[in-house]
Amino acid sequence: MSESILVINCGSSSLKFAVLSDEGQSILLEGIADRLGVGNSTVTFKKDGNKESIHLADGSHKSAVAEIKKWLSQRPTILDSLTGIGHRVVHGGETFSKSVLIDQSVIDGIAECANFAPLHSPAHIIGMNAAIELFPGIPQVAVFDTAFHQTLSQEQYLYPIPMELYRQHHFRKYGFHGTSYRYISRRLAELHPKSLEQGVLVAHLGNGASTCSIHKGKSSDTSMGITPLEGLMMGTRCGSLDPSLLTFIAQAQGISSEEALDILNQKSGLLGISELSNDCRTLEEAMALGNKQAKLALDMFAIRTAKYLVSTATTLNSIDHLVFTGGIGENSSYIRAAICQQLKAFNIHIDSDKNSLRGATMSIESKKSQTKVWIIPTNEELMIALDTINLIRQ
Ligand code: ADP
Repeated sequence: MSESILVINCGSSSLKFAVLSDEGQSILLEGIADRLGVGNSTVTFKKDGNKESIHLADGSHKSAVAEIKKWLSQRPTILDSLTGIGHRVVHGGETFSKSVLIDQSVIDGIAECANFAPLHSPAHIIGMNAAIELFPGIPQVAVFDTAFHQTLSQEQYLYPIPMELYRQHHFRKYGFHGTSYRYISRRLAELHPKSLEQGVLVAHLGNGASTCSIHKGKSSDTSMGITPLEGLMMGTRCGSLDPSLLTFIAQAQGISSEEALDILNQKSGLLGISELSNDCRTLEEAMALGNKQAKLALDMFAIRTAKYLVSTATTLNSIDHLVFTGGIGENSSYIRAAICQQLKAFNIHIDSDKNSLRGATMSIESKKSQTKVWIIPTNEELMIALDTINLIRQ
């Protein structure tokens, strides 16, 4: 069997994993451990169309990694083919501008940025330490969501707050979904080589959603900020709003600012407006049955996405390509059409027949559009596997 890479994505209460071979092109195994630390945790393995779920008595991240090791030990051809492990890391602060081989100094560096991603960073570190212990001798690589945006200029990444706060505490825009944007830039260059010299706008629309402008292959602006709360309206996150609201909500509800922030992170966005669901597909089904609040939530989502696309585009010389990706971007023709409806003034138009297709890589602009409009499914696992392969071969 050719060399393979285990990709680990440790979230606060879940751990997604995959084993990729053939330079990341084939998926040998994928799975998820969920409800970690919550109770009744399971690990689900998916291989060759078959699913197998195992109950995790000790629902910790470490026991999930141990269960993956055990499962692989029963399939020695896969285990023996593992040459590296790649870990997705949400926040790399200003320390990490590219993927790195993991050693203790890297783990310490991730711990130093943990205040910006308090739910994710501790889980990443537990996952890394468990993988180092359980897969001794296999090199491990950290791939950061923030790294791609380290090319932003100071004018773009600074917040207009006292400079002292940036100097002392590194309060600035970092941006996220960087691994997805890097994949999209690379994939678009395969489909349209000239794009590497052109202006590219990308909307990564999933439960978390953001926009990015890519100039000559480098991120020049992005909508998320110091945390993934800034920018677009999302599944449960409000996106950008007047920061005074935080205090108003806390005072009005008699709660702390942390609890008010929790409302903005967990109870807002599509869920907050629809009072039904954070899930785009559920809202589209409700809208089709006449639910007006579901339609309002979806339309607000689309309008705000369009606004951010335009604002992110100000760092480009021209908008040559607009790419939709992420679960909503790849699948929702309603949202894509509603966004492009808002972008007519920028000569962006889509063909409604092409837009009604979904899930495949294709361009959907109409003849009069001055911008090529693409649907490109993202593949963050592939980027993590490729970075891991490149670093371990160096
Ligand atoms: P995450 O940020 O969790 O990775 P995803 O990229 O998986 O999110 O996107 C999840 C979103 O994609 C959900 O809102 C889901 O409803 C939406 N989605 C997936 N398939 C469809 C579909 N066929 N039509 C509309 N929305 C869809």
